[in-house]
Amino acid sequence: MRKREELEAHLEAALAPCAVRGRDSRGRRVPEDEPPYRGRFQRDRDRIVHCTAFRRLEYKTQVFVSVMEGDHFRTRLTHTMEVTQIARTAARALGLNEDLVEALALAHDLGHGPFGHSGEDALDEVMKDQGGFNHNTQGLRIVDLLERRYAAFPGLNLSYETREGFTKNLGPAGRARHGFGAESVSLEVQLVGHADEIAYDTHDIEDGLVSGTLDERDLGGVALWSETLAEVLREHPELKADHRLRWRSVVRRLIRRLTGDLLAETERRLAEQRIGSLSDVRACAKELVGFGEPTRRAKAELERFLHARFYNHPNVRSETAKWQARLKELFNAYLAEPARLPADHRRRIDAEGETLPRVACDYVSGMTDRFAEQTWGEVCGG
Ligand code: MG
Repeated sequence: MRKREELEAHLEAALAPCAVRGRDSRGRRVPEDEPPYRGRFQRDRDRIVHCTAFRRLEYKTQVFVSVMEGDHFRTRLTHTMEVTQIARTAARALGLNEDLVEALALAHDLGHGPFGHSGEDALDEVMKDQGGFNHNTQGLRIVDLLERRYAAFPGLNLSYETREGFTKNLGPAGRARHGFGAESVSLEVQLVGHADEIAYDTHDIEDGLVSGTLDERDLGGVALWSETLAEVLREHPELKADHRLRWRSVVRRLIRRLTGDLLAETERRLAEQRIGSLSDVRACAKELVGFGEPTRRAKAELERFLHARFYNHPNVRSETAKWQARLKELFNAYLAEPARLPADHRRRIDAEGETLPRVACDYVSGMTDRFAEQTWGEVCGG
């Protein structure tokens, strides 16, 4: 059996000098002995996959409300798996720490509440006087505090480098408030953010088309789509007659194109900024992982299209708006009658000095779509 030190040394010898290395980790909040045959980021990944919030991703909305709209669209769990695979491929190509990237990607959406971004907006609104609600900071609360699986500590006691993934949009002041350094995040964290964009930009087009919410003709005005479609049809003219296979072929090629651009541009920036170590990454105020300017602009065009035609389409909005209102109703019902909260949540108000709104928000945001639906029916009499 290879020991952890041996495994980490073997894997990390092949990494780029600017990658995160397990042996340099800033450690866990509660010190622990590391396991004999797993690297520390492998252990973080395992803890994430075994936690309750991870399993609930299966029943949380990505774009379509999952319980109501059928079985063949993305959920947060399948989205998370797609992000993870794109991120691992890119990490290996750049010589970054693939185990860390895997842990970061698997955790990146843990803090999402039910009903996707509309659910997040609803909770943010009802929590506005209490510090608001955001899926990234909620993810950190989940892994630091809310998961209860270990006797020795609350949460999952993940490594600093894995927890750091939840701070990517916080800025220096926000990072400091959560106990992180004011310096830049690792390349691994930057990479997962962009893998997330590649995954949702492309699969949201596919789900939009397959559901009939998007019309392929409207995508003709979006350069990324029309250019990629032309390439596909040049190679496979027969796909003019097979829309499903045509869409899938374009989406697959788009993922490849965006990932290839991300790798090339990141390599260019690393050279331009003369990045030769992790300390250089931390000291560099510019984002080092990113798309080249033409692709960034083309991607922004695609995202504007998706916002206008898909996320705000009546098919999508009618369900999400309904559930937005109901989540607020449910949250307010717990404020009015705290006894309705489960005892182990209520207890945290006294024992851990949490406020009632924060505990109610933790509880509601932890719900899956279908559990929120059922609970709203019971509590609000729907
Ligand atoms: Mg995501």
